Amino acid sequence: MPEILSAKPIINQEVSMLKKRVSKLGEPPLLKVILVGSNSESLLYVNNKVAFCKRINVKCEIVNVEESISKEGFVKLVSKEAQSTKVTGLLVQLPLPNQLKEIEYNKLIPPEKDVDGFTDKNIFSLYINKNQDVDYYHIPCTPSGILKLADYYGIKFSGKKVTIIGRSLIVGKPLSLLLTNKNATVTLCHSKTKDLELITKSSDIIITAIGLPNFLEPKHLSDHHNQIVIDVGINRLNKKTVGDVNYELVKNKVKSITPVPGGVGPMTVLSLANNLVRAAEYLCSHSSGKEK
Ligand code: NAD
Repeated sequence: MPEILSAKPIINQEVSMLKKRVSKLGEPPLLKVILVGSNSESLLYVNNKVAFCKRINVKCEIVNVEESISKEGFVKLVSKEAQSTKVTGLLVQLPLPNQLKEIEYNKLIPPEKDVDGFTDKNIFSLYINKNQDVDYYHIPCTPSGILKLADYYGIKFSGKKVTIIGRSLIVGKPLSLLLTNKNATVTLCHSKTKDLELITKSSDIIITAIGLPNFLEPKHLSDHHNQIVIDVGINRLNKKTVGDVNYELVKNKVKSITPVPGGVGPMTVLSLANNLVRAAEYLCSHSSGKEK
């Protein structure tokens, strides 16, 4: 039987730690989420964030605007929320409608409030492997959640061959930086990769962030039952939530595997909450003595 890398025990443990940290802040932090339109999946993700914030006693407000909002209106809105002294953390729920896709809205958000970790300063800090404890920055939530999950289950990356499938800006690319910084040998694959099966078969750890239900199959795996599979995918198939991994077929061929739901998804929300509390702690320690 494979080891199931469930987020549940980690969440239970972390919630009480986050609550303690929140109780030490003068005021509960406020997360603002800008949601454009009413895409049902985006609504689901946003509601998960609201529910988690409630669990750790922090405030989360959604600013829901019409899908047809103009570029100017959107820029004005993000700038206003970014500059508000009441807002601890700010994020824009993706995807955005076409008319807003080219806007570099991340440039409008101060890096310390960028709890998604997508602004230039935060990504550059990851790129040059700054020490997070010394130089303050946020790591993108899904990569950081994967690291925490691995840490809990004693999975080490140093010296390991890791294949990441999917090169998105929110998961694959930042994760490749993070794991390179952890001394893994990372192969970043994508839709134009040739001979994917050869690459995955010889990997110690396979991470899928593709968006194709049941994509990873036994043919991608070695016959030694010693690989670790981390499934980032969240896809809807026949009214069910499934990952990028064909879980039923793959589970008996691997050493450990994350479930979907209940694996990387909750870890992402946990990382967001952790970034938010860090942002509040940072703002607290940097505003003492200053006029409020
Ligand atoms: P994306 O949708 O932006 O891009 C998909 C990536 O997969 C691309 O880099 C593409 O090259 C690659 N790809 C597509 N077809 C491929 C193929 N046949 N072979 C190899 N590579 C292929 O990526 P994303 O935004 O990272 O989302 C990927 C999946 O992860 C989605 O299911 C999304 O819902 C999920 N997701 C989950 C979380 C979480 O918290 N668990 C967070 C973000 C995204």
